[in-house]
Amino acid sequence: MNEAEFNNLIAESPFADSPVQPTMLPENAPLQFRCHRDIKCWNACCSNIDIPLTPYDILRLKKRLNLSSGDFLKQYSVPFEMDKDGMPGVKLKAVEGGSACQFMKPEGCGVYEDRPTACRYYPVALLTMRRSDEFFDRSAYALVKESHCLGHFENKTQTIEQYRTEQGVDEYDQKAHGWRQLVVKRKSAGPAIGKPTPVSNQLFFMASYDIDRFRAFVMSPSFNETYSIPVEQMAALVADDEALLEFGVSFLRHTLFGEKCIEEHPDALDKRLARRRAMAEQEKEAEFQKKMELEDDKYSGEH
Ligand code: SF4
Ligand code: SF4
Repeated sequence: MNEAEFNNLIAESPFADSPVQPTMLPENAPLQFRCHRDIKCWNACCSNIDIPLTPYDILRLKKRLNLSSGDFLKQYSVPFEMDKDGMPGVKLKAVEGGSACQFMKPEGCGVYEDRPTACRYYPVALLTMRRSDEFFDRSAYALVKESHCLGHFENKTQTIEQYRTEQGVDEYDQKAHGWRQLVVKRKSAGPAIGKPTPVSNQLFFMASYDIDRFRAFVMSPSFNETYSIPVEQMAALVADDEALLEFGVSFLRHTLFGEKCIEEHPDALDKRLARRRAMAEQEKEAEFQKKMELEDDKYSGEH
């Protein structure tokens, strides 16, 4: 990736409006950095957070905290928009009235083994993009140097790859790969795909972040009337959050981009149309009844 491409990537990234502009790191670049408990800036980074969450981050944290995805989102996340079309994202929510992470403890991160991807990567950032004329993603690493972080002056140097291994990032990147591809595809989608509707944004939010609500949706009669999911696969989706997350990416590709990722019942479209027609009829009937009641009230008021 050359410098111009990197600059385009930054323009599309969360750093676009940030006063801290990252510098590009070529693969295998040496990274001089060490974070440890005796450093003067201990916990400075966790005292002022801006941590976007991937679906897999949420899965890990909700499991650790033994919460439903809905309760986790309520207590520990805030929504934000990932692009100009309102693609929903979520970030870690800070403590009430402050900017520190709710998981920060004097001894360090209170959820260390399950800390989110962005916390693992820091001070490195992973940037992913796709050009509208290409069918593959481009990734780049960037170094974020913030004045409060003294880890850059420590005497330890390793490659980015070594740092990623040390921080256990591989598993997180693997599990989020399909979802990141989806996000990049949506961001780079041209006019052929069109502006996402509020309903498609709601589906994106549910399948990406609110996995327990998505499970209830997948088990609902209306979903099963449309989609034909083999019994064994359905059992796996009901029992396994990770399988459901992966299925969610296929579901979103199917519904957002019209990719045929999930088998539909042959008569699914007819049934859907019939249901919509029935609903429209019901609404019309309800409206008529309301009108009649208003008329009745009017006349009874005249006597
Ligand atoms: S999750 Fe842990 S590492 Fe990440 S900001 Fe919170 S306390 Fe810091
Ligand atoms: S060295 Fe950087 S990452 Fe480590 S505690 Fe200090 S500010 Fe945070």
